Amino acid sequence: MGSVVQNDNNGAFPAASGARGVVALLALAAIVSGCAQGGASGGGAESGVAGGTPAPGQQVADPAALPAHALSLYAAHLRAEALARAAAARHWGLREVPLAAPLPPVRKPRITTREGFEVEDHEELDLPPLFTTVPTRQKVVFLTIDDGAEKDPAFLKMMKELRIPYTAFLSDYVVKDDYAYFRKMQKFGVTLNNHTLHHPYLPALSYTRQKREICGMQRVLREQYGRRPALFRPPFGNYDRDTLVAAKTCGVKYVPLWNEEVFVDHWEYREGDQDLHPGDIVLSHFRGRGEWKGTMPDMVRRFLNKVTEKGYAVARLEDYL
Ligand SMILES: [Zn+2]
Repeated sequence: MGSVVQNDNNGAFPAASGARGVVALLALAAIVSGCAQGGASGGGAESGVAGGTPAPGQQVADPAALPAHALSLYAAHLRAEALARAAAARHWGLREVPLAAPLPPVRKPRITTREGFEVEDHEELDLPPLFTTVPTRQKVVFLTIDDGAEKDPAFLKMMKELRIPYTAFLSDYVVKDDYAYFRKMQKFGVTLNNHTLHHPYLPALSYTRQKREICGMQRVLREQYGRRPALFRPPFGNYDRDTLVAAKTCGVKYVPLWNEEVFVDHWEYREGDQDLHPGDIVLSHFRGRGEWKGTMPDMVRRFLNKVTEKGYAVARLEDYL
């Protein structure tokens, strides 16, 4: 198993090596290239340092290349990190400690539209790709969470303590009563992406109204969170050519759909083999007891128990795009 270091962008590092030590280690981690993938990864050769500090939950670097002083700090940090992770897994009732994600590929995979998902003139118009799986040999899956109705503080705490990356797709009509909730996840490194203003069935709308839904949400996200995202997911996964033309006009680069959906009490699969695959995008929702028989942490527990049991780590979707 390789070594693990975490991104400190949530400010939640274990105190073992002190703030300055951690900064030094992260700087080292960022410059040391590594391909020491653990058992969870099948894609060692395509991995390395991507030119920045690692994202939450990410595995890093070849520790043999570190100077002795840094190495001992790094080892102390790793011990604290592993202990914190194991304690968090116990605390949140997971069956096993989640696997740390491998480093994302240095060369990003070429994302293309899944066969059968294209619209007319998709390539000619250079419309954003629709995909359900990211091409990778690494044993990773990506967690994406939609809408935004449920704003459970326990969910934020759980994901932060376990260092599990995820990607949010927000619809304004359910998030606008508490924009601040999502600001907290943004601080942890989660990107907040476009899921329209009012969550309509887009193919029923004119081009102009579709554009208003998508560009309008881009504007809200920029005003509230300072960034116009590159990712958009159409409500219910339904779209037509106008949707993609409008999305492109609004600055969208990718349209990730999903290959599995996890609920609080079951999974649903797109593929006949009813299984996870490397690079699969998993969908879930910000829902609570009002909408399903459990809490957000209950859903995450179901998600992580299966993912870990199958030997997958959870990686950050944006690191592969
Ligand atoms: Zn939705």
